[in-house]
Amino acid sequence: MTELHPEVADLDPRLVALSEQAFDLAGVDVVVNTHLHFDHCGGNHLFPGRPFYVQRQELEDARTEDDYTIRDWVDAPGVRYEPVDGELELLPGLRLVPAPGHTRGLQVVVVETGGRPVVVGGDVAVRFGELDEPRTEGQLRVRALEPELVWLAHEHEPWRPRTV
Ligand SMILES: [Zn+2]
Repeated sequence: MTELHPEVADLDPRLVALSEQAFDLAGVDVVVNTHLHFDHCGGNHLFPGRPFYVQRQELEDARTEDDYTIRDWVDAPGVRYEPVDGELELLPGLRLVPAPGHTRGLQVVVVETGGRPVVVGGDVAVRFGELDEPRTEGQLRVRALEPELVWLAHEHEPWRPRTV
């Protein structure tokens, strides 16, 4: 998110906009949205003209369902989506994998490392406990990948499977 919005003021978000951080916006060639809740697409406008990879289901839901997101942020000026149907190898060793649950069209990013994969999970789980005891199709799919670790959007450390 780069700005506040009356619809989400009650969440009291604290903003440190990416455009105000030491981050090379021009160095980003491709954007992946795990899903399009407002707190996951509020910075899309920072990357006009770049391809945004998102599941087609997610894009449809964000554009049509009420109280789903902030639609102006989804279709901000210059944002160009590349709808994806199912799994996609976006780059060698980097693939998009549908992981429904939190939203119907959520996807995660799976990065092959040579060992066990690393997963960028977005909100596939909002808290660690949800991956410890997976319930949704998406959480079960992530666990089945036997990842080394999973980055979640709302946790500051990666989740790791408990060693047995
Ligand atoms: Zn979300």
